[in-house]
Amino acid sequence: MNTLFVHPRIGDKAAAFLSREHKLLIGGKWVPAQSGKVFDTHDPGTGRVIARVAEGDAADIDLAVKAARQAFEGGPWSRITPSDRGRLVWKLADLLEQHAEEFAELEALDNGKPLTTARRGDVPLSVDMFRYMAGWATKITGETLSISTPGNYHAFTVREPVGVVGQIIPWNAPLLMAAWKLAPALATGCTIVLKPAEQTPLTALRLGELIQEAGFPDGVVNIVTGFGPTAGAAIAGHPDIDKVAFTGSTEVGRHIVNAAMGNFKKVSLELGGKSPVIVFPDADMSVAVPGAAQAIFANSGQVCTAGSRLFVHKKAFDRMIDGLTQEAGKIRVGHGLAEGTQMGPVISEVQLERIAGYIDQGKAAGATIASGGKRVGSEGYFMAPTILTDTKPDMSVMQEEIFGPVVCAVSFDDDDLEQIAKQANDSIYGLAGSIWTRDLSTAHKMIRRIRAGRIGVNVHGSVDAAIPTGGFKQSGWGREKGHEGLHLYTEVKSVIISL
Ligand code: NAD
Repeated sequence: MNTLFVHPRIGDKAAAFLSREHKLLIGGKWVPAQSGKVFDTHDPGTGRVIARVAEGDAADIDLAVKAARQAFEGGPWSRITPSDRGRLVWKLADLLEQHAEEFAELEALDNGKPLTTARRGDVPLSVDMFRYMAGWATKITGETLSISTPGNYHAFTVREPVGVVGQIIPWNAPLLMAAWKLAPALATGCTIVLKPAEQTPLTALRLGELIQEAGFPDGVVNIVTGFGPTAGAAIAGHPDIDKVAFTGSTEVGRHIVNAAMGNFKKVSLELGGKSPVIVFPDADMSVAVPGAAQAIFANSGQVCTAGSRLFVHKKAFDRMIDGLTQEAGKIRVGHGLAEGTQMGPVISEVQLERIAGYIDQGKAAGATIASGGKRVGSEGYFMAPTILTDTKPDMSVMQEEIFGPVVCAVSFDDDDLEQIAKQANDSIYGLAGSIWTRDLSTAHKMIRRIRAGRIGVNVHGSVDAAIPTGGFKQSGWGREKGHEGLHLYTEVKSVIISL
């Protein structure tokens, strides 16, 4: 077995966590995988192995589901008051905040993102998500119904937790995705089996330790690390899981839906996107240019809502491409833990090759590389911020989710909003979009025409805990975050009482 790589910039607390054995959290205990297997997790900035974690599979998922079922149906969690439930979730937020730097370092190392992004974004946003949902724990209510049935009745609804929930999350924002999934499920009183992505299991495991420290009863949160086709598929197909929540590729989303049919478990999906950024000629270019750059280059483009199709009116097109090229040139690409890094590596060699493959396909089909287009360095998995022009609607780079720092720019000369919206909506996806204009009327008309779950005006988006996120079309089912997000984790029970 290779020795583990300890990055010189990693702090003592994160180093101490890395040196521990990384087991599965099942029924309140840290246990090895039933098979005894482990797998490596890598630093995408160097390609070196940083930790080994237990490789859970169907047998471990089964144990985790039993523990979650027991915690749901008996024991302290099934009797806890909403207020105490909220208090526990809030305590978890406090603990996470107290260990913010350790989490930021682990995230930067395991996922590759710049330490500053993890410090200013992922970690505080995760803390916020837990706090936001902690507040909702005491506000999950039904309605009193006004009914027309002759007689004397009292009718109302109550919202109850959906039960045992399986949650499968991706690698692009590992801690934040865990928070988006866990916080509403805990606030509503569900119990959970969480499977982190195999590329980035570390922060979820460290969060598991804090969940225990916060005092959640055994079995409320179970964490099983492992691969998609084994551990993930076992969650999707398990007959005793009431609901599965998945974030990841549209292709895997289809597997989840098929597997979930066995017991008709509830399904929520946050899938791919190909989100349009639409810039009108009256836009404030000093805002639109950095906005478009941020929309695609943040997190190395590994964001489901990334603004990967850029539609710019021909009057503003050259200014946008010049500005965007300058922005791309200024971005300091480097190891997530290195001083001053603004864009880290992509997650893996596979992903790097996938992105390079798309750029090659674009070139072969006639696209022009205005900037970037190449790997950076030979160690780690770095891709230069890339701008493609001369792209056509039927090219794969325009239709498929690249999930890398690659934007396709298109100019339009039409002033007919219907036509512009038609181009922007020419996608199987409908996750997000943004409109850049000073004209309120244009903004409102476009908001109505874009078929997507989230629209920004003069901003590409926000991951605020209060804003629901999710997709139209093949971008998914349901909305996470916000009040809306709670509905994914409750069942409505109607009650009628004859008086
Ligand atoms: P993926 O969909 O394969 O993996 C996401 C999660 O699903 C991981 O936890 C994985 O273990 C699990 N999984 C994989 N196969 C499974 C199966 N058969 N049953 C149950 N769970 C399974 O994503 P990926 O391979 O890591 O990335 C591929 C592409 O997915 C990316 O290039 C990107 O286009 C997209 N993606 C989207 C998001 C998003 O936030 N929408 C996030 C990550 C990846």
